Amino acid sequence: MIIYEGKAVFEGVAIGKLSVYKKAEQFVKREKIEDADVEISRYEEARNTAVMQLQVLYDKAVKEVGESGAEIFEAHQMMVEDGDFIDSVENIIRTQMVNAEYAVAETGDNFRKMFLEMDDEYFRGRAADVKDISERVINVLMGVGGGGIESSEPVIVVADDLAPSETVQMDKDKILSFVTVHGSANSHTSILAKTMSIPAIIGCDIPLTDEMDGREAIVDGFEGKVYVDPDEETLAEKQKIVEKEQEKKELLEQLRGKENITQDGQKINLYANIGNTKDLGLVLKNDAGGIGLFRSEFIYLGSETYPTEDEQFAIYKQVAETMAGKKVIIRTLDIGADKQADYFELPKEENPALGLRAIRICLTRPEVFKTQLKAILRASAFGKISIMFPMIISVDEVKRIKEIVEGVKAELDSLSVPYDKEIELGIMIETPAAVMIAEELAKEVDFFSVGTNDLTQYTLAIDRQNQSLDEFYDPHHPAILRMLKMIVDAAHKGGAWAGICGELGSDLSLTKEFLAMGYDELSVSPGRILPLRKAVIETNVSEYKKEKGLE
Ligand code: PEP
Ligand code: MG
Repeated sequence: MIIYEGKAVFEGVAIGKLSVYKKAEQFVKREKIEDADVEISRYEEARNTAVMQLQVLYDKAVKEVGESGAEIFEAHQMMVEDGDFIDSVENIIRTQMVNAEYAVAETGDNFRKMFLEMDDEYFRGRAADVKDISERVINVLMGVGGGGIESSEPVIVVADDLAPSETVQMDKDKILSFVTVHGSANSHTSILAKTMSIPAIIGCDIPLTDEMDGREAIVDGFEGKVYVDPDEETLAEKQKIVEKEQEKKELLEQLRGKENITQDGQKINLYANIGNTKDLGLVLKNDAGGIGLFRSEFIYLGSETYPTEDEQFAIYKQVAETMAGKKVIIRTLDIGADKQADYFELPKEENPALGLRAIRICLTRPEVFKTQLKAILRASAFGKISIMFPMIISVDEVKRIKEIVEGVKAELDSLSVPYDKEIELGIMIETPAAVMIAEELAKEVDFFSVGTNDLTQYTLAIDRQNQSLDEFYDPHHPAILRMLKMIVDAAHKGGAWAGICGELGSDLSLTKEFLAMGYDELSVSPGRILPLRKAVIETNVSEYKKEKGLE
């Protein structure tokens, strides 16, 4: 038995086989060949395999997101078999007598540049598709997997680090736990683990070798340890913990259907954070009162090109209908920093967390923003949707956003498309600037939701992605707690309601404090709702305030 240690980011114990996550890597070399015909038939075979892979992806996507969401894979199949593309590759192979990998890479680059130079936005968008299909064919030629989990049974995923664009493509039913060598406690991999309520360990010194793949292991998310090839005694001990955890879960189950009300009668809404429609099952299972944060950017990260209005509409409508009249707060695109999608072609930045991200992208690319707003507004006719804007720093921004929303509404009116005319608009408070001007901002919107993950990062000047700063990243810092009080007071003064949707909202050691501050809502990972309900029910706010000398 070998024990590896790291930092636990979600408690629980998982027992299963390790699966070392391999990233697709391509180092295409230009190599001279002897026989062009042999090389061309290698290329032909690789094309056929790529088309088959895309068919598998198409079938999977049809089941998961419906036909319109799957169309992209059909389009990719056609691009792999495009006559001009094939002619160019074969010509390079014959005239330069070079390997197929190189010829595909060259052609891919040339076609990509050609698309990027076109005036039509649609064709410019195809540049990312060309890159994607060329990489796929090269992967096949080089015998490199496309990245991801290859096992058919649920596994413990072991990786160096995982980008949001990688986790979004994983089959969540196959993941028992995450163990990463790098990554920070506030990264989106940690957030995903919390959403899925599975144990996760980061900063773990486990080797990512082939011989680790498939070995039996235990991940203990209480101790932050991974036991590889556990002995019988350890296995029995950990199995007992799994059973105890199960019992605890069953006890919490009894809180389903109960109200979130303190002993002295103060109510609070407990909502769930989600990243995509697959999380909806967890939302219902954990009895959330609504969705307080739908991280819509995951739709963009899971896509190979800009998701269309109809594709987005189908997703938002599904969420609104599933929640059956309960509130669904959709946060508009929060891309940039750690959440990168190639087709946005964002500039390389020195300080991406302080760069072109979130609302800044939406305001500089109004067409992308309007497409999303139209999709959300159309879906608002099918349930109770609110819209929330991330990374706000000024009243002027909010006014510009409201003008754009009004423009989109007018467009829908002119087409007699139904939508919720009273739709609530809210903003995330996640920059110190927004805290300082919260009173003015509150007059402009219906609600605030505090993004404590970014608010902590920007207030303490600590990159939330930087693992070596985890010991300094302190969301309990008095500066943050005082800001939280300022925010809720300003919201109420300006006639808005206030919630918290950052990770701090589920911190049970602060539940009493948040109730005493007067927060109206906490939005947390679905698995945190019932423990939070238990804490609310056990709280007496006036007694707590007396104890703390707050009144
Ligand atoms: C936050 O910053 O607290 C938040 C909820 O948004 P995200 O974690 O997606 O940046
Ligand atoms: Mg944020």
